[in-house]
Amino acid sequence: MAAMAPQFSVEFFPPRTEAGRGKLDRVHEELTTLGVDSFSVTYGAGGSTKESTKSIVLDYNAAGSEVAPHLSSTGQDIDVAGDLLNDYRDAGIRRLVVLRGDTPPGQQRASKGFYARDLVEFVRRHSGDHFHIKVACYPDLHPETPNHALEIKYFRQKIDAGANSAITQYFYNADSYFRFVDSCREAGIDVPIVPGIMPITNFDKLSAFSDKCGAKIPDWLASRLAGFGDDEAGLRRYGDEVVSELCGRLLEGGAPGLHFYSLNQAGPVRRIWENLGLSGSR
Ligand code: FAD
Repeated sequence: MAAMAPQFSVEFFPPRTEAGRGKLDRVHEELTTLGVDSFSVTYGAGGSTKESTKSIVLDYNAAGSEVAPHLSSTGQDIDVAGDLLNDYRDAGIRRLVVLRGDTPPGQQRASKGFYARDLVEFVRRHSGDHFHIKVACYPDLHPETPNHALEIKYFRQKIDAGANSAITQYFYNADSYFRFVDSCREAGIDVPIVPGIMPITNFDKLSAFSDKCGAKIPDWLASRLAGFGDDEAGLRRYGDEVVSELCGRLLEGGAPGLHFYSLNQAGPVRRIWENLGLSGSR
């Protein structure tokens, strides 16, 4: 059987303003023209972006794109998740990214012990096999997970609950992805594991975000990026080069596709796309 062509997806977050939404519409159009296969739209903690996530998903779906809404729940607002599933199913949405979500700093999580696997189970009970469910996984470890063995164990629980594929947290060390995939295969997890790719455009923001989400910036990369100081254009050029090389290695090594954390910008994705020689190929 011929191997499936790699699939490329791009993640958006719901903008807070109308101007931001207008800009996102243009980014979506540009990336659609480029040949991206599908999009996903994040969902704020505690349902804070319920309406904006849904509106973007339904609009881009109506425009002919394949769009996967992200869905999270504290466990106590599960009826909200049920209503959203009905709306998405009625609109013909077939894919979801199911997550536990993060509680904003300073707030206590409403219901401890409710994990993404519980939401996957809920989606399956509620909607049967209608949705292809993607879940998150963490080659560099989730910040709250004590060790690698538990990372794999909890990931496996999400697959056993009914998830069909996974997207990784971003990373900059291709070997960390390949080793993680090997451990998953040894543990009997056989679903596609798509690398999440974070373009590099601003070192300070990237460092702060990486500290929170557990993604590792290797020392060699951190010191090169720090060396650019205020030279934003230089940092961007170097970031494009490093991330394009990473993407190339991942695809050559058999990754089933790439999922770009676009931060609602077309430029970095387009430049990496061109560096990978994908322009005009799709
Ligand atoms: P889980 O798999 O539930 O894991 C959460 C923590 O609980 C981990 O430390 C895990 O080790 C632990 N755990 C899991 N199962 C068990 C168990 N049975 N017993 C004990 N401990 C357990 N956040 C948002 O708010 N909105 C989004 O749209 C969003 N999109 C994302 C997309 C991707 C691709 C990724 C990688 C992350 C995204 N996030 C999003 C962030 C995500 O919600 C956080 O990383 C969150 O902290 C964990 O989510 P999860 O689904 O991996 O949770």
